[in-house]
Amino acid sequence: MNVLVINCGSSSLKYQLINADSEKALASGICERIGIDGKFKYKSNTGAKVEKEVTMETHETAIKMVLDALIDPENGVIKSLDEIGAVGHRVVHGGEKFAHSVVINDEVVKAIEECNDLAPLHNPANLIGINACKALMPNVPMVAVFDTAFHQTMPAKAYLYGLPSEYYDKYKIRRYGFHGTSHSFVSKRMAEFVGLDINNSKIIVCHLGNGASVSAVLNGKSIDTSMGLTPLEGLLMGTRSGDLDPAIIEFIANKEGKNISEIMTILNKESGVQGLSGGLSSDFRDLTTASEEGNVLATQALAVFSYRVAKYIGAYVAAMNGVDAIAFTAGIGENDDLVRAAVVSYLGYLGVTLDKENNSKRGDDILISTPDSKVKVAIIPTNEELAIARETVALI
Ligand code: ADP
Repeated sequence: MNVLVINCGSSSLKYQLINADSEKALASGICERIGIDGKFKYKSNTGAKVEKEVTMETHETAIKMVLDALIDPENGVIKSLDEIGAVGHRVVHGGEKFAHSVVINDEVVKAIEECNDLAPLHNPANLIGINACKALMPNVPMVAVFDTAFHQTMPAKAYLYGLPSEYYDKYKIRRYGFHGTSHSFVSKRMAEFVGLDINNSKIIVCHLGNGASVSAVLNGKSIDTSMGLTPLEGLLMGTRSGDLDPAIIEFIANKEGKNISEIMTILNKESGVQGLSGGLSSDFRDLTTASEEGNVLATQALAVFSYRVAKYIGAYVAAMNGVDAIAFTAGIGENDDLVRAAVVSYLGYLGVTLDKENNSKRGDDILISTPDSKVKVAIIPTNEELAIARETVALI
């Protein structure tokens, strides 16, 4: 069966058509600047590539273009839309309502809408994608896979903030965590890769991309993770500040005459390694080049990033009373050997030594700790689309 995986943002839509039997992507791409002007990108596993600037007024127009591209006689990968057996949608926030993926029906749509408050930028966009697919493929079953679901196993001691309890009671203000699909996929794969029984394992996953989070996975279940009510908490990220003293918000507001919403924009879009490097870049490749050329701010930004990852690893070793394996994944985790080396340099107390040769490799799952290391450390490439396709097939 082929599964169309949709990841819908407010003005963009990423898609992949995955054959669930071979687990290979037949085609993938992105529609950008929907509702503004429009850029369409498509590539197939047969080598076809389409890139064009074309008006996409709505998400429905964009999805229609994706479907047309998939069945296009020249560049397409299927003969008719009947060959799409199901659609899997990434949904960012499932609140406390969704601890698992679900088949989408009217009730589910309503429940996702009720989580809009918790992710006002993302959930409405995800719903637009769901409604657009429903309009174009009314008879194809659809599944929602939530970023937050995997972390619903966190105990109250991990998810409660030190706030008056009425805020949890009234508004469900608590830590939810994100990147759940990736943390789930990578922790399972890590257990297989190093020969651990997932039901008797302590795994830490470092998902280090533009957005970044660490999770503690005990016996296959998330018991803590670094992101919170929103993806702003935790690690330093590309442009997000991660953890900081909340009093800083009032301090900046008073000094700079800014309101809360302006400061939130700074914390989300102008902070992180981008902010620390004096606005140089949020991309670790640029920062590494600048650092090698002697840019002190870039060097510092990279140091703060790795130090904070190491601190979270330490916290999760404590939370699980030990650790068997640590996985690096996502854009930085999979590609940046310098960041991995810097993080591993803090792990001597765990009996971990870096295998420098393996750490310089790229590609598949790779063990980067030496054979005598007590804790196994590995690069495990994430594949959120495949994880969504698997969940979708399992449910329909
Ligand atoms: P997201 O899905 O959160 O947008 P990704 O997981 O795709 O992020 O990661 C993107 C980031 O990964 C880039 O901003 C860049 O910092 C980093 N990255 C990608 N490729 C490399 C590389 N070859 N070396 C170092 N960092 C890289």
